[in-house]
Amino acid sequence: MKGAVMRHHLPALLAGALLFFAGCGGAEDESAAGLKVFTGATVFDGQGGPPIENAAITVRGGRIVAVGPAAAVGAPAGAETIDLAGKFVTPGFILGHGHVGGARGLETGPDVYTRENLLDQLALYARYGVTTVLSLGGDGAEAARLRGEQAAPGLNRTRIYIAGAVVDGDTPEAARAQVDRNAEMPVDFIKIRVDDNLGTTKKMPLEAYRATIDQSHQRGLRLAAHLFYLEDAKALLEEGADFLAHSIRDRAADDEVIALLKEKNVCLCPTLTREVSTFVYEDVPEFFSDPFFLKDADPSVLEQLKDPERQKRMRESKAAQQYKVALETASANLKTLADAGVKIVFGTDTGPPARFQGYFEHMEMQLMAEAGLTPEQIVRSATGDAAECLGFDEVGSLQAGKWADFNVFDENPLDDIANTRSLAGVWIAGTRVPASAE
Ligand SMILES: [Zn+2]
Repeated sequence: MKGAVMRHHLPALLAGALLFFAGCGGAEDESAAGLKVFTGATVFDGQGGPPIENAAITVRGGRIVAVGPAAAVGAPAGAETIDLAGKFVTPGFILGHGHVGGARGLETGPDVYTRENLLDQLALYARYGVTTVLSLGGDGAEAARLRGEQAAPGLNRTRIYIAGAVVDGDTPEAARAQVDRNAEMPVDFIKIRVDDNLGTTKKMPLEAYRATIDQSHQRGLRLAAHLFYLEDAKALLEEGADFLAHSIRDRAADDEVIALLKEKNVCLCPTLTREVSTFVYEDVPEFFSDPFFLKDADPSVLEQLKDPERQKRMRESKAAQQYKVALETASANLKTLADAGVKIVFGTDTGPPARFQGYFEHMEMQLMAEAGLTPEQIVRSATGDAAECLGFDEVGSLQAGKWADFNVFDENPLDDIANTRSLAGVWIAGTRVPASAE
C-alpha cells in the first residue's frame, strides 16, 4: 500500500516536531495557549485497544497531542476544556466508497459539479460523523483543490480523497492513457468497473484492466475495483487489484477467494446500501419518517421519490428484484469474509441520486450488524481498519500526531451499533462541525 501513504508522511513529521517543542515549552501559560482538552468521555481508539474511561484528549493545531486516562494526561492551567463526561468517543468515520459532487438531489451532470456542491456534501457527511471520504470516481479538479486545502486546523468539513475519472478504456492503450491523465491530477486511487450490469452491458476486457492495474502501479497508485461476480473478484485479485470496492454478489464467497484476499492483503468494501437504493423506493421507505433522516433531507427530493409512477417503475424493474437477491448474497458473504479474517472497509457508494450521504452510512452500519458483524467489527471497519487498508495514516485512530477527527455519542455504539444515531457532536481537526446547514 503505497501512493497516498507517501504523500501524508510530511505533515505527520511536522506534527511530531510540534509535539517535541510543546514538550520542551517554557512557561505553563504558553503551553496552555491554543490547547483544547476534552475530558470525561469513554474513548475508543479505533484500533481495538481497550476503552479508556474518564479519558482526556488534548489537541493543538488541529492534531492530537495526547490521549489517555485524564489523571495520566494532565493539562496545563488555562487550557480550554470541553466537558464530555458520560459521553462516548470514537475516531471520525472513514467512508471507503462514496461519491462527492456528481449529483444534487436527483440531478446529475457536469452543471452540478461545483465547489459549492462539493462543500455542501462534505458538510453533510461531516454532520453525520463521516469525517473522511474516498470519492471513487467522477472526481474533477475542484475536488483535488479541496483536498489540497484540508491540512488545516480550522477545517470544519469532511476530508476528501479521490479517484478522478473512472478508467473505462477497452484497450490497454486507452486505459493506460486514462490512468496517466488521472495521475496528473493527481488522484489517490484509480477506479475501474468490471461488471456487465446483470448482463446488459459489455464488461471491461481482461487485457484492458490488466493494463490499468499495471499502469496504476507504475504511477505509484493503487487500484480500486467495482465488481459483482465471484469469478471477476478472483481474476482481479490475481491481476493485482488493491481494493475490492463492492461485495461479491452473485454467489457464496469460497475458500479460493478468501485465500486470495488474505494472501494479497486486499480489503473489501461491502456497500450494502447501494443494493438497498435499487429497490427501496418501490414504496415509501420507512426511513422517510425518521427524524434522523429528515433533519437533512430535501423535501422536494422525497416528493419526487414518492411519485407513484416512479414507484411502479421500480416495482416492475427486473434489475431491482435481482439486486434485492444480491443484497442477501452480499450480506452472507460479508459475514463469511469477516469471520475468515478478511479486512472490511466501511463503504456505502452514497452520492449518486437517492443514495443519501450521511444517513445511509448509519443504515449501512445497521445492515452490517444484521449480517452478523459485531459493533466493534463495524466501528473498526470505519476507523482503524479503513485507515490501514486505504493508507490514510493521519486519521482513523485517536493517537498523538493524528488529526483530531472524532465523534461524540450519548449512547455507546460499541454496545449496540444503532447507538451511532445518538451522535451528539462531530469534531474535525479539533473544530466542532456545525450541527445544521447554514
Ligand atoms: Zn461507486
